[in-house]
Amino acid sequence: MASRLYEYVGPSEVAASVRGSPAGLPIKTDSDLKAWIAANRDDMDSAGTITATFVIDKDGLLRIAERRTEHVACASGGPVRSAGEMSFTMDGRIDYVSNQSTGFCPEPESWPAVAVAINDVVASPPRGFSREFIFRRCTTCGQTLVIKDNWFVCDVCDADVPTAWNFDTRE
Ligand SMILES: [Zn+2]
Repeated sequence: MASRLYEYVGPSEVAASVRGSPAGLPIKTDSDLKAWIAANRDDMDSAGTITATFVIDKDGLLRIAERRTEHVACASGGPVRSAGEMSFTMDGRIDYVSNQSTGFCPEPESWPAVAVAINDVVASPPRGFSREFIFRRCTTCGQTLVIKDNWFVCDVCDADVPTAWNFDTRE
C-alpha cells in the first residue's frame, strides 16, 4: 500500500508566519547527519542527545530542523509522508523518534516512510516510533486531539470522536 500524504492541518496563521522560511535540511547520508549534529551541539540536553523537528517530505526524504521549528516550515508547507520529533546521540544514532506533529497529525502507520528515509542515514535504526501519537479532529468543535487510552471523546466539548483517522475530510 502506498503511504499516505499528509497535508498541513494546523492553524493557517502559523503556516502564514513561516512562509518563505527555509525548509528543513535534507539528510541523505550519515555524514549529512553528523555535520548537522556538529553544527547544533549547543542544543545538547542533559541526556546527551539533540532533539530535532523532522519531516519525511513527499519525495521520501528526511528533513530536519532545530526543535522549535514548526513542522510546516520544515516541510515548506507540505505535504509530508510523516513528521514528528527525533533525538540524536552525538555519534549519530537515533535515541528517540515520535510522530508528534499537531501540524500534520500523521498516523503511527506512517512509520514505513520513516524507516526507508533513515535506513542509509543511521547505524542500527529503530524499528518503530519510540512513542506513538494518535491524532483525531473533533467533528463537533474542530479541536485537534491526542487520543489517550483508547478514549475517543473530545476533552473540549465531550462529543464522541471518530475512531478512524479523519484529517483528510475538510468541512
Ligand atoms: Zn469537541
